[in-house]
Amino acid sequence: MARYTGPSCRLCRRENTELFLKGDRCYTDKCAIKRRNYAPGQHGQGRTKVSAYGTQLREKQKVRRIYCILEKQFRGYFQSADRMKGVTGENLLSLLERRLDNVVYRLGFAASRSESRQLVRHGHFTLNGRKVDIPSIQLKAGDVLELREKSRKIVAINDALEAVVRRGIPQWLELDRSSFKGTLKGVPAREDIVTPIQEQLIVELYSK
Ligand code: SF4
Repeated sequence: MARYTGPSCRLCRRENTELFLKGDRCYTDKCAIKRRNYAPGQHGQGRTKVSAYGTQLREKQKVRRIYCILEKQFRGYFQSADRMKGVTGENLLSLLERRLDNVVYRLGFAASRSESRQLVRHGHFTLNGRKVDIPSIQLKAGDVLELREKSRKIVAINDALEAVVRRGIPQWLELDRSSFKGTLKGVPAREDIVTPIQEQLIVELYSK
C-alpha cells in the first residue's frame, strides 16, 4: 500500500494543529506549528473563509494524516464502519485505532506512526506468536503483540519505550515492559480515544 512521503510538518501546518508525526521533535521548540503557525504555500498567510464542506473536508484530512492513511483506504474504513452495528463515526475510530501500526505506536515501541509502520514492515513483531509485517492488520480483544527476541536491543525502540511515559498508554492496552509484550485488553471505546477528533464531520462528508 502506498504512503505519503512528503514533508510531515507541512501537513500539521495545513491542518493548523499538531498531528505528532515526527516523534520527539514534536515536543520541542523546533515544532513547525510553534515556529510558523500558518498554512503552507504562497497564500498560507492570506485570509480564508472556510465553508461547512471545507470544515468537514479538513477534519477528514486531519484524521487520515494522523493515522497515515491514503484516501482510498480511508474510504474503505468508512464503508466498513458504516456496515457495522453502532455509531459509524465511533466504529471508524475503533477500526483505525486497532490497526497494527497504531497499536505498536500506542504501546510505545515507536516514537511516531510512520516509525511504527516501518518496524512492522521490517518484521520486528509477532502477533499471537506468528510473525507479522502488514501494518493494516486489525487486532481484536485478547491479541498479544510481542517484539521479537532479535529486535529487543534496537536503540530506537528502547528509547521510544522510555519516552512513552510522556504520552501514556491507553487503558485498552497493556504493556509488559520486561517481556516486550503488549496485550489488547478490549476494543477501544470512544472515551478511550483522547485525540481531538470530530468524527461526526467525517460521517457528514461521506454521507453527501
Ligand atoms: Fe507536526 Fe511534529 Fe512537525 Fe510539529 S514537529 S509540525 S507536531 S510533525
